[in-house]
Amino acid sequence: MRRRRTSKPAKVVYRKLGREQAWGQATIGENVIELDPRLGAKRQLEVLCHEQLHLSFPEMTEKQVDRAGKELCATLWSQAYRRVLLCPNAKPPRIS
Ligand SMILES: [Zn+2]
Repeated sequence: MRRRRTSKPAKVVYRKLGREQAWGQATIGENVIELDPRLGAKRQLEVLCHEQLHLSFPEMTEKQVDRAGKELCATLWSQAYRRVLLCPNAKPPRIS
């Protein structure tokens, strides 16, 4: 029996990536995305899109991923998609 591929979200880890000379990093086999926490909100979204594209389409070139990530981020941002930090003890949620 064939199963539909489940789209399990990548695990996202925030850590300073100075040594790697990158703002983000994707590890394909582990489905892990690392993001530098020093990025601003919009750049963080852009890098997150970029790294997810690397995981979803490992065959894409860096140039293609770069373009798709920027376009995806620009559209999401223009539609006011923002990160909301959900904290059980704080209402309403904080917007970063
Ligand atoms: Zn890349």
